Amino acid sequence: MIILSVFVFIFGVCIGSFLNCLIYRMEQNKKATGRSFCPHCKHILSWQDLFPVFSFLLLQGKCRYCQKKISWQYPIVEISTGVLFIFIFLSFGFVSDFGFRASDFIKLCFMLYIASVLIIIFVYDLKHYLIPEKVLFPAIFIYLAYRLSEIFTSNFASFGSYILAAAIASGFFWVIWFFSRGKWMGFGDVELAILMGLLLGLANVLAALFLAFFFGAIISLILLGFYGKNLKSEVPFGPFLITGAFVALMWGQQIIQWYVQLFKI
Ligand SMILES: [Zn+2]
Repeated sequence: MIILSVFVFIFGVCIGSFLNCLIYRMEQNKKATGRSFCPHCKHILSWQDLFPVFSFLLLQGKCRYCQKKISWQYPIVEISTGVLFIFIFLSFGFVSDFGFRASDFIKLCFMLYIASVLIIIFVYDLKHYLIPEKVLFPAIFIYLAYRLSEIFTSNFASFGSYILAAAIASGFFWVIWFFSRGKWMGFGDVELAILMGLLLGLANVLAALFLAFFFGAIISLILLGFYGKNLKSEVPFGPFLITGAFVALMWGQQIIQWYVQLFKI
């Protein structure tokens, strides 16, 4: 299990490196083809420069050719993707007593795909206050198709509950977006909530929204403490939503149970 986890981590780090590349190409509005190069001096990177994390450490965060600093975004995204992949693998990709079933593997692949999409959106929204629809829309359609295909193995009610979750979550943000005229919430958050509903289902999406507002409040207070009133009024909400989604995905049941218990006595 440990060896397998190490493999999953390395795989995740490589995917993270690819996600960084995709984010950069999206920022430059380029197609994801051609060889990697330094964004400052445009020097094409050699194979020694392309090892995720290791190259960054070896080069001490500087470009080999122009000595310009390489953004921390690269190793952070790589390591985060690796860690996230391990979490997902351990919670969903389970090698059960019955061996590894094909349906489990498909589910795992979908989870890893959605995780990658959410990581891209997280970084992009954080940097540019924009949720890239180019990445989000295909994910919504692919996940919708996946949930539809599940009708054959489970029942129609479970599909309905995911649709309901998507409708409620995005409807909630739509109301905020509409009445604040886009000031408190961007329309991208309304669209992102659709994917969250499809991914999490009703109970977990509510937990995710609760967590997102909770994290948002904490970070806002910290920023307010540091920067006082000079704080830029717009903090992107997407990263909070995505963090909430990941936490709810892993520990949603426990959080809901804990929350229910609070009100029991
Ligand atoms: Zn360079």
